[in-house]
Amino acid sequence: ELAEITTLLLSRIRDVADYPEPGVMFKDITPLLADPVAFTALTDALAEVTVRHGATKIVGLEARGFILGAPVAVRAGVGFIPVRKAGKLPGATLSQAYDLEYGSAEIEVHAEDLVAGDRVMVIDDVLATGGTAEASLQLIRRAGAEVAGVAVLMELGFLAGRARLEPALAGAPLESL
Ligand code: AMP
Repeated sequence: ELAEITTLLLSRIRDVADYPEPGVMFKDITPLLADPVAFTALTDALAEVTVRHGATKIVGLEARGFILGAPVAVRAGVGFIPVRKAGKLPGATLSQAYDLEYGSAEIEVHAEDLVAGDRVMVIDDVLATGGTAEASLQLIRRAGAEVAGVAVLMELGFLAGRARLEPALAGAPLESL
C-alpha cells in the first residue's frame, strides 16, 4: 500500500528542467496539490509520521512547507508555526543565517510560539542541500524546544542533504516519503 501511495505521489510531481536557473531540475508539486486524492494521501502520510514521533508542534518552511504543514498539523492535532524568510514576521523573532551556494539567507520564527517542552517536526516539500532545514533545527533548539524530526515529501539524494543534516538532527529522524 505504501508502494501504491509512493507511485501516486511520484506521478503527480512535475520535473521542470533549468528552473529557476540553468542546471536545476525543479520538482513542482502543484499537480499533486491540485489532485485531492494525492494531496490527502500526502497529508495523511506526513501526519502519521508526525504522530509516530510524538511531535507537539509542526514548523513549516516558507513557502511550500506552509501548504503541506498546515493541513498536516490539523490532521495530527498539533500546532503550526511558520518559519519565514527574514523581515516577514511582525513580532519578536529569533533569526538564523545560513550559507547558500552563492551568498547567504536568513530565516526567522516568532520566539514566543516555541516553548520549552515542545517537540517539533519540521515539514517541507523538498530536501535539497539541507541548509534551510539545518537552520530551522538551530532555531528550534535556540528557542528551547526539542526536535522531533524532519519530514519531507522527497529528498534529492545527490545533494547529500541527509549527511549535512545529521549533526543538527542529533539522532532525531529524517523521514522522506
Ligand atoms: P535546501 O536548503 O538546499 O535544502 O533547499 C531547500 C528549499 O529549496 C526547499 O524549501 C525546497 O522547497 C527548495 N528547493 C531546492 N531545490 C529544489 C528543487 N530542485 N525543486 C524544488 N524545490 C527545491
